[in-house]
Amino acid sequence: MALVVQKYGGTSVGSLERMERVAERAIAASRAGDQVVMIVSAMAGETNRLLGLASQVTPLPDARELDVLASTGEQVSAALVALTVQKLGHPARSLLGSQIRIRTDGAFTKARILEIEGTKLLDTVANGKIAVVAGFQGVDDAGDINTLGRGGSDTTAVAIAAAIRADVCEIYTDVDGVYTTDPNICRKARKIDRISYEEMLELASLGAKVLQIRSVEVAMKYGVPIHVRSSFSDRPGTIVAGEEGLEKVVVTGIAYDKSEGKVQLINVPDKPGVVATVFGMLADQNVSVDMIIQSPSREGGHTTDVTFTVPKQDLARTKESIERCAREIGGAAIEYDMDIVKVSIVGLGMRSHAGVASRMFRILAEEGINIQAISTSEIKVSCVIASKYTELAVRALHTGFGLDRDDLELE
Ligand code: ASP
Ligand code: MG
Repeated sequence: MALVVQKYGGTSVGSLERMERVAERAIAASRAGDQVVMIVSAMAGETNRLLGLASQVTPLPDARELDVLASTGEQVSAALVALTVQKLGHPARSLLGSQIRIRTDGAFTKARILEIEGTKLLDTVANGKIAVVAGFQGVDDAGDINTLGRGGSDTTAVAIAAAIRADVCEIYTDVDGVYTTDPNICRKARKIDRISYEEMLELASLGAKVLQIRSVEVAMKYGVPIHVRSSFSDRPGTIVAGEEGLEKVVVTGIAYDKSEGKVQLINVPDKPGVVATVFGMLADQNVSVDMIIQSPSREGGHTTDVTFTVPKQDLARTKESIERCAREIGGAAIEYDMDIVKVSIVGLGMRSHAGVASRMFRILAEEGINIQAISTSEIKVSCVIASKYTELAVRALHTGFGLDRDDLELE
């Protein structure tokens, strides 16, 4: 007998028929002797629809009211799924965030969970009843509804699993697991059987959008094993867990991210304090800079070039402060390039293997791809290249690091 959390995403509860399938799955687990807590998202498209209505009313809707509105999507799903389970002959009960006291910090639309009182939930499932919890929502100390940020039902599920010490947190979605890279651009991508929290965090933040990043942080903190799998099949998916028992392959996955743009400050005076001024101004504007490179200017003399990347969505703020900054420090010209992509290789094995970065550079060089910026961490190497080479780079790296699946039937 196990205590199991099953989270179903929007597509898995996207219609009444689909709700029946997830209800059947939960009932099967319950009949096999498990205690089952279901967490549900809003039906596919519903959150967007609700937020769209709000922005039709006013361009800058009040965040408190947005949360009252957006949280209804999950309330609808929870009630309908509980009714479906009951219809199939099994006891079930829906529960809202406020009813199981998911206490949040009051930050409307992006709240964090402070505490969950697990007792009500455990009482509900103690006698075989299935609890159906509305994801994405909590309640703050003022009694207001808070939502947890887009994709937040994943975090509800993991936090509940931690609070009730569930044996596993299953995340059911419309893909069958986490892949070595984006299967849309590399058909040799393979499903990963097991991945560590650290690797998943790097891949998630780089664009493998299977799990809300925060849910992986919570899972890592409390040691909750996550099983990402498809609600449309019975095949095992990907286990996201601690490092123990992981075969340490050098590279686990290849990610790419087109969300950043490159800014180059050319002919900046090479003297103490200049770089501090540039990045101080950006920090004041709340722009989070990712990669930074400083190199001597081509013209020589006492000038240097400073290159860095920022989220494209911060570009307007970046332009404003960087242009002001260039006037202040004098001499600098500015160039922007939005047609870039950051390609990254991620793997725990890099800690113990030398030469991984140079292998990446060689693979890109052999494809004639120029590297514009590089950054490394313990388990990741990232290169900025021209975005038109995204597919080529990802495929070459996928093959070069031995990630291609071998069962591929080439037509
Ligand atoms: N319904 C919310 C969203 O679409 C939360 C979730 O599905 O995880 O972002
Ligand atoms: Mg999701």
